[in-house]
Amino acid sequence: MRVAVDPAELPRHRGGRFLCPRCGEGVNFGRFAEVEGQRLCLTCASPELRYWELAGPQA
Ligand SMILES: [Zn+2]
Repeated sequence: MRVAVDPAELPRHRGGRFLCPRCGEGVNFGRFAEVEGQRLCLTCASPELRYWELAGPQA
């Protein structure tokens, strides 16, 4: 029995970096927050920090 594994879930760089599944940015391990089962960078995980992005789409 085989289980499909998302490449993003593989521990390629333990203690290193991973890609935020939402914005694709590299995130230093330890500087993320788990939201709804996904590990997101702090920017994606914290709506407050995204206001700059939402408020200035044409910046
Ligand atoms: Zn992100």
